[in-house]
Amino acid sequence: GLKCGIVGLPNVGKSTLFNALTSAKALAANYPFATKDPNLGVITVPDPRLDKLEELVNPQKVIPTTVDIVDIAGLIKGASKGEGLGNQFLGNIRETDAILHVVRCFEDDNVVHVDGNVDPVRDKMIIDTELILKDIETVEKRVDKFRRTAKSGDKDAKRIVEVGEALLAHLESEKPARSFETSEEGEAVVKDLLLLTSKPILYVCNVDIDSIDDGNEHTRAFRAAVAEENAEVILISASIEADIAELETKEERAEFIEEMGLTEPGVNKVIRASYELLDLITYFTAGEKEVRAWTIHRGTKAPGAAGVIHTDFEKGFIRAEVIHYEDFVAFGSEAGARDNGKLNVEGKEYVVQDGDVMHFRFNV
Ligand code: GDP
Repeated sequence: GLKCGIVGLPNVGKSTLFNALTSAKALAANYPFATKDPNLGVITVPDPRLDKLEELVNPQKVIPTTVDIVDIAGLIKGASKGEGLGNQFLGNIRETDAILHVVRCFEDDNVVHVDGNVDPVRDKMIIDTELILKDIETVEKRVDKFRRTAKSGDKDAKRIVEVGEALLAHLESEKPARSFETSEEGEAVVKDLLLLTSKPILYVCNVDIDSIDDGNEHTRAFRAAVAEENAEVILISASIEADIAELETKEERAEFIEEMGLTEPGVNKVIRASYELLDLITYFTAGEKEVRAWTIHRGTKAPGAAGVIHTDFEKGFIRAEVIHYEDFVAFGSEAGARDNGKLNVEGKEYVVQDGDVMHFRFNV
């Protein structure tokens, strides 16, 4: 599955956010690692379309789609040199598909700041520096390994060394690999390096409830500092999210959210943005036994989408019957959509669209 990592300095609210994001505990318990590692969790992706399909189909069960998340605690100044639990955590980041970087933008004298005062721009620099230093080490190793073969004229080795050296200059000017510009061939070289700073990133400013709508001096300074990165910045209050997550029923949560002047839980914003960051979309299967949401990369063709359910579905793929979500709702059911000519039979080349309700036909 896809995995997001939460990073940030200690005491910025990472584990509070992690707990709020992964509060669907019953579901998490189905995952083998849920009990093994407390820093690994599963996020249920909220989707109002799934509720609507449930209402129409009235299935025995409803299964939302999920994203895995890991709370990467312990990243501090010096981590790249092995300070704290440095290297281990940097290894954890390497395994993720995307990063949520949490910065503290709330004032609270009861919560100690590791560097004495609230300053998200400085905090981000500390984390960035550690990740960049680690990446420099990775690139240097690779370049050294290929230098001799490059000298003896090997074309691939030459490219690795050339791109590597340009990349090193970029990293040494304290810029992340994600902003390094190179040719298509160069990009392949960079991709092979699995660098920490080439992962897609989403910034989460942890603020007090009063600052959620308009931000505060810290969020403004932070936005200005990351303006050139073209990355999304989300404002949420981790402690409010934790309060929301603790409430037992949907109704209680809805009431509390309204009392707080919010329109939805902030974690929904984070999840949606992560989905966009990873370029993911959702399709549905809707039978009487089960209505279920599935995650795929945008651009996946029908057989690949079927393969997410089971590899046999992909191998034996014959065709897919597709109803767009809007048509399913407009005509109230699969039969209704079919009767109105809204059930399309698609082949191997069909690119699955966000919200498609799919039925796969396959050989066993
Ligand atoms: P981590 O070390 O980054 O995982 O940080 P924690 O999630 O453990 O939070 C550190 C402390 O900050 C805890 O005492 C939290 O209750 C507190 N905290 C987290 N988020 C907020 C927030 O939005 N506002 C305030 N005032 N305190 C928070």
